Amino acid sequence: MLRVAVVGSGPSGVYAAQTLVQQREVPGVRVDVLDRLPAPYGLVRYGVAPDHEKIKSLTGSLRAVLEDERIRFLGNVEVGGPALTTERLLELYHAVVYCVGAARDRLLGIPGEELAGVHSATAFVSWYSGHPDAAAFELGGVRSAVVIGAGNVAVDVTRILARGAPALTATDMPHPALGVLAGSGLRAVSMVARRGPSQGRFTTKELRELGTLPGVAVRVDPAELALDPAYLDPDTAAALPAAARRNVEVLRGWAEADGGAAEETQRIITLRFHLRPAMVLGGPGGRVVGVRFERTTPDGAGGVSGTGVYEDIPAELVLRSVGYRGVPLPGLPFDAARGTIPHAAGRVLRAGRASVGEYVAGWIKRGPTGVIGTNRPCAKETASSLLQDAGALARRELPGDPLDALRAAGLRPVEWPGWLAIEVAEADLGRSLGRRSVKIPDWPGLLGAAGSPSSPTP
Ligand code: NAP
Repeated sequence: MLRVAVVGSGPSGVYAAQTLVQQREVPGVRVDVLDRLPAPYGLVRYGVAPDHEKIKSLTGSLRAVLEDERIRFLGNVEVGGPALTTERLLELYHAVVYCVGAARDRLLGIPGEELAGVHSATAFVSWYSGHPDAAAFELGGVRSAVVIGAGNVAVDVTRILARGAPALTATDMPHPALGVLAGSGLRAVSMVARRGPSQGRFTTKELRELGTLPGVAVRVDPAELALDPAYLDPDTAAALPAAARRNVEVLRGWAEADGGAAEETQRIITLRFHLRPAMVLGGPGGRVVGVRFERTTPDGAGGVSGTGVYEDIPAELVLRSVGYRGVPLPGLPFDAARGTIPHAAGRVLRAGRASVGEYVAGWIKRGPTGVIGTNRPCAKETASSLLQDAGALARRELPGDPLDALRAAGLRPVEWPGWLAIEVAEADLGRSLGRRSVKIPDWPGLLGAAGSPSSPTP
């Protein structure tokens, strides 16, 4: 038997586990999928926006994998802490695949970023997704928000801010977060990109969705679109990748419609381009009152340069949405510049040499890019490297069932029945609130529902 630990139960971890047990070359592979949280699915549960039900429904296929008899889900197990170091984990298993994602947000590095009311989009997403470590948001007194960045996360947080309560009530958003969003007096959200419309990182489907929200008008200034050479020049436009061309068309449509704020408009989304953040502006009590941006111009090489012309956009809430970054795991090498664990075809590299038995997949391997499906080939590559090494790895005798060792170390793993109990508790909670299944957003609630409180399992 080849015992493998996969650390992280998001898409990359689940796809890695699936590839490892479903292949035929190496028989007898058994996988434990460990997660720090008592709930599986990583960013599908705690990152995909609650109103994106179609993407969320992917949990159905992830669940089928985790229910495979050759795979065991062990939640509430933190790897890299004192109870379970990465070195110890490698003693307990023949191989470990780290699929821990990119847990932190990136900073802007501009003055005023520390002001009250300035947050990372990641923190905001975690909060409305019910992540048990998330701090609560208060939107009292927030009339306008600025979202900095032009990726899909920026689009997600812009949409969630602008959406009215009825659409969110139908989701699994935690009840307290729903109450805060539903009760907010927010009227205007500006999503601000430092480069041009053809250089947005959002996908067209997500962008277009902004124009479908009831009671929400989308505004784009044609003069700002025109700053992008691809907007006016048909030859440059023709050379764009298809996705960028489609994005420009969507934006052009909004610019031409003049963002007409009809009677029923409750909120306005304004998409801004060629503005890079220079400083966050503070007001009384150290709270944010706006962001100063510098107008940019294309530098001819895909980037932008500053023009020395500034514009202030008022906001009582600022979300920076400029990407995620990986976090080092104690005991593993780390490329701080890229925020990833160095690897060759998924094999962890220590001082340039492939380490026997240690692998990576997903964002911690390739950086925070791509859609969920990108993790499939990524995990496959890693799994096939591991399987090539299987002969050498399986020679080592293991101390016994790792689950016993985890318990002996004081850990209280939440196994699959515990997770199913959380699901039942969330469905019950939803029913009691007159909603569908609603997430439990705190540790005691999750562990209590899992029936895995502080006492050791007998
Ligand atoms: P992202 O796609 O990398 O976008 C980051 C954005 O931040 C870019 O517009 C970037 O502009 C901007 N930026 C970076 N540094 C900046 C700075 N100092 N000042 C101003 N702007 C700055 O990251 P993301 O939105 O966090 O998404 C991460 C990944 O998750 C992506 O692969 C995304 O597609 C995926 N995702 C997908 C979905 C979905 O499919 N529905 C939803 C959420 C996330 P530049 O381009 O100029 O660098």
